[in-house]
Amino acid sequence: MQSIYLDHNASTPLYNEAFEAMRPYLTMEIGNASSLHQAGQRARKAIEDARARMASFIGADDPSEIIFTSGGTEADNMALKGIWAVSQNKGKRVISSPMEHAAVRQVLRQMAGEHLIDLVLAPVSSSGVLNANDIQPLLTDDTILVSVMAANNEVGTVQPLSDIARLCRQKQIPFFSDGVQAAGKMPIRVNDMGVDLFSLSAHKFGGPKGAGILYIRKGTRMVSLIQGGRQEKNWRGGTENVAGIVGMAKAAEIAQQNLERDIAKLKNLRDTFENEILSKIPQSRRNGDLKKRIPNTSNMCFEFTDSSAMVAALDLQGVACSNGSACTAGSPEPSHVLLAMGLPQELAHASLRFSLGHTTTQDDIKKACRILIETVQKQRETNPLWEERQRHLK
Ligand code: PLP
Repeated sequence: MQSIYLDHNASTPLYNEAFEAMRPYLTMEIGNASSLHQAGQRARKAIEDARARMASFIGADDPSEIIFTSGGTEADNMALKGIWAVSQNKGKRVISSPMEHAAVRQVLRQMAGEHLIDLVLAPVSSSGVLNANDIQPLLTDDTILVSVMAANNEVGTVQPLSDIARLCRQKQIPFFSDGVQAAGKMPIRVNDMGVDLFSLSAHKFGGPKGAGILYIRKGTRMVSLIQGGRQEKNWRGGTENVAGIVGMAKAAEIAQQNLERDIAKLKNLRDTFENEILSKIPQSRRNGDLKKRIPNTSNMCFEFTDSSAMVAALDLQGVACSNGSACTAGSPEPSHVLLAMGLPQELAHASLRFSLGHTTTQDDIKKACRILIETVQKQRETNPLWEERQRHLK
């Protein structure tokens, strides 16, 4: 059975063109980009072309502001720990949000646990959006970093980065944003957003797994985490993943070319999906702001169901979706994002994330709706609380 894949926030299919661009670097083009011979120099050129493409993708002023990493998690770690390491004589206060992905959240929690930083989480609204006015009073003189994601991986909400950046700039505080879920789903212009550091991961926008970037604005003071060779101008030791870097750059090119068309298509499919579900499934509702969100993500709550049982039942019927982020799925804990938005535990436990992508079709959505409607119905029939509620209503 071909499954209907509605889990693009976990990972996306690789564009064919990206695969073809990678192929030579997985086969004949074996050169190490640090080697002086021709094979090495061809690899070097491929990497530098990719760097220029990635700079254009995010609107960076200069390709030298792009550092290649093994993905989003490494880029996030590098930003947080790299800034902390040069800021200790200024203070230890770090401002973040309670909705961050584990790649930021766990790093900051661990650093706070080791008393390396004082972590302050800004409040978030019930629709999953931060307000810069709430952040302003938190920015004291000993604040060394602000870290707020661009788009949330679970509910898709988009944060007011340029407003937060303005405040950070006034106080000369470095501003990092995890942009992993924004790429390919909204325009990314690092200068308009005002960020000093920004992370991306290729496999979230049609590129390969295991490749990403950290954008470091020129003049930002930080240190590198991975020492070794002098690759990436000493920012990150280690032989470059040429194929991954080339595939990521090709995916970025396609995502950039198709951005407007993809946004319109995804919005349309998502709205069709949500309208059908809301009209056909009683006691269902959407989580997260309806305006300030990326176009592919729909987080929905179906009261009187259990999300883990729903994911398994839907999978058996050929629909792939998730409860929470892929990195924390399977954990019995309800989503920290939904809890931060004030959802009670039982509603957080009854919520699912559907994330669409460039391969999603109208037909997928139609079939997924039919299967979801039947599955919610069946799950509720096994829940005594639902039965009791139905009896009450009669
Ligand atoms: N940040 C966000 C918001 C994500 O959604 C993810 C992956 O789900 C990551 C970081 C981690 O990226 P990677 O899988 O490339 O390590």
